[in-house]
Amino acid sequence: MQRTFFSLFVVLCVAGFLLGCSNRSGVITLPTDIEADRLALKILKKMTLDEKIQLVHGVGAGASPLNGAGFIPGIKRLGIPDLNMADSSTSVRVANVGATILPSPLALAASWDTDLAREYGELIGKELRILGFVVGLGGGVNLTREPRNGRTFEYMGEDPVLAGSLLARRTIGMQQQKIIATIKHFALNNQETNRFKSNSIVDERTMRELYLLGFEIAIKDGNPGNVMCAYNLVNGIKSCENSYLLKTILKEEWGFNGYVQADWAFAISDTVRAANAGLDEEEPGSNDDNVVIGGVPTYFNQKLKAAIHSNKVAIARLDNMVMRKLRTLFKLGIMDAPPKSGGAIDRIRGAAVAKKIAVGSIVLLKNDAPLETATAVLPFDANAIKTIVVIGGHADLGVMSGGGSGGPFAVVDNPVTCLLPEKMYTECAPYSKSSPLKAIRAKAPKARVTYFDGKNTSSAVNAAANADVAIIFATQFTGEDRDLISLSLPNQDTDPANQSFDQNALIEAVAKENTRTVVVLEHGTAVTMPWLSGVPGVIAAWYPGDKGGEVIADVLFGDVNPSGKLPLTFPKSESDLPQRAISNTDLDVNYIEGLMMGYRWYDAKRISPLFAFGHGLSYSNFIYSGMRTTADSTGNLRIHFNIKNVSNRAGAEVMQVYTALPILAREPPQRLVGWEKIQLSAGESKQIVINVKEKRLQIWSIEQHKWLVPRGKYDFYVGNSSRDVNSLHSVIEF
Ligand code: BGC
Repeated sequence: MQRTFFSLFVVLCVAGFLLGCSNRSGVITLPTDIEADRLALKILKKMTLDEKIQLVHGVGAGASPLNGAGFIPGIKRLGIPDLNMADSSTSVRVANVGATILPSPLALAASWDTDLAREYGELIGKELRILGFVVGLGGGVNLTREPRNGRTFEYMGEDPVLAGSLLARRTIGMQQQKIIATIKHFALNNQETNRFKSNSIVDERTMRELYLLGFEIAIKDGNPGNVMCAYNLVNGIKSCENSYLLKTILKEEWGFNGYVQADWAFAISDTVRAANAGLDEEEPGSNDDNVVIGGVPTYFNQKLKAAIHSNKVAIARLDNMVMRKLRTLFKLGIMDAPPKSGGAIDRIRGAAVAKKIAVGSIVLLKNDAPLETATAVLPFDANAIKTIVVIGGHADLGVMSGGGSGGPFAVVDNPVTCLLPEKMYTECAPYSKSSPLKAIRAKAPKARVTYFDGKNTSSAVNAAANADVAIIFATQFTGEDRDLISLSLPNQDTDPANQSFDQNALIEAVAKENTRTVVVLEHGTAVTMPWLSGVPGVIAAWYPGDKGGEVIADVLFGDVNPSGKLPLTFPKSESDLPQRAISNTDLDVNYIEGLMMGYRWYDAKRISPLFAFGHGLSYSNFIYSGMRTTADSTGNLRIHFNIKNVSNRAGAEVMQVYTALPILAREPPQRLVGWEKIQLSAGESKQIVINVKEKRLQIWSIEQHKWLVPRGKYDFYVGNSSRDVNSLHSVIEF
């Protein structure tokens, strides 16, 4: 009986898998690559020239019926659905739909947790679908070459393997919801100053080993439907007109078979050049290329049609653009089940995921014993504390998020009133209504908890002087289109829309009066801390999302044992950065430091950072022992060691593997090649094996234009950060 039913099921599925069949485990069967291509071709053959052109450009900014960032109307007679697109790096960025605000992508990177990355993508994918969107425009993987880059919060840090691996999983999680995920901004879009014109000048090896590698991993392992090319030029050629990047590397070498979409303004300057270089879609586009709206010309409507007629762009190229889109729609199951708009966000599910990601991503940067005591300042003991002073950061109202298209759309009912309301959409920080103050009060019901907004330093300092502990919330707003002037906590001059006082001075003054002062940062990038030596506890909470306030309180009082690790280096000062300042006038951005970027720079130059890449403390203590490295016949490595939680608290640890390549390879002192995050109960120990693929040891040969693994001696290190003085060491010879 069972067999008969199954045979019938298979026949039906083969004949009509477009209906979306399930296999025995209930999983929907999606078409194979070959089937997706065949189905796409069938439709392409029925399309008129106008219909093809319609599919390769949006119809203008503000044209999305669902208030998303872009819109391509579908073609009903062929069953092609409307393509509504929404920004969705942190949250589905649409006004008044109540989308969940997750911790920023940089926070996700600080979790080092690939499963969380999948859940992140899955949640955003679900919310996009319920609201009727087909394309999610999140997925930034530009590396933190320049921590003052205003968009650092929407990317995934400074290491290509960490960033690329996490983004691959986020992409998979999203596309499993039958949503097209985007990976952006391809390529070398590492600062915002002069963003439409800046020219990233980089050598081939650096580009391959660092800036393209994050994309390569995310694209090959995550298979996104969409890759967004960047505004900036790369070595003198616009990214979206760069056939070396789009055709030679992305499509031919990496085998990317989705479509390439241009970023939103001035990414194209020539129809023929862009089309022939491999660009497949213009956004936001327009209904009429001959009308220039807002000073932004468009190129992929009438102009593209004319280029086809004059044979400057072959019809085969246009067909290929369309094929890439159609096959993606088939491959992801969207043709069979296009999203319908009008659904409601599941706030409970969203809050649960936001909480989980905040729990995994908050980094305990410092946890010393205050003067004249023997125990670390954190976690606080709610029963022993009688008075708590909470200061600053609008902790009474919520937690900060980032700005621009990578941030949430929370401005309308923002709990925090902007100091420059006229700059609401560009410079005012959005907040999640998750009050840390409220959560702290709930944790310590017997304590007297008072709040000072920080504007009046002396009242905050006086209160702190008489309190058992002081908790200062410090915020650093960052966003699209604006680089930071410095990594110093902003004040009334550097961020007049969001700050009315000098946060550094306040921290300094409070810490002088209260030795049990803890600083909680809500931030989009690295922060310099001139007050660090006077403050025993510092927490990096990033932009912590809709449950941020609660999770911060959980960390402060020990209900969450912190386990995040820095995905970027925190320098002591800007003068330690390879690029001293971001030039406003020089459009050429020379990547003169080459491979020495991020921790590689600090290691090579022997500069001690404020906090190293990979750093993050725990309330538990973990001891590593017994390291051994073995290689199999294919060159893949296995790093064996033991880890023990020697504390009386359960906790999670990110075990990191770095390697130093043979000296002749002329590489930076070390690179991250693997990691694993593990949960260990009190006293528990485990034997660990971390697999390191041979390709993680590769270098790019400029002579041969290909990857190779240098022969010689490799040192491997396992530890809890890139600068763990107790890291284990083993050597292997190839
Ligand atoms: C940003 C993209 C974004 C697009 C649509 C552009 O300015 O660079 O990341 O997806 O706008 O909002």
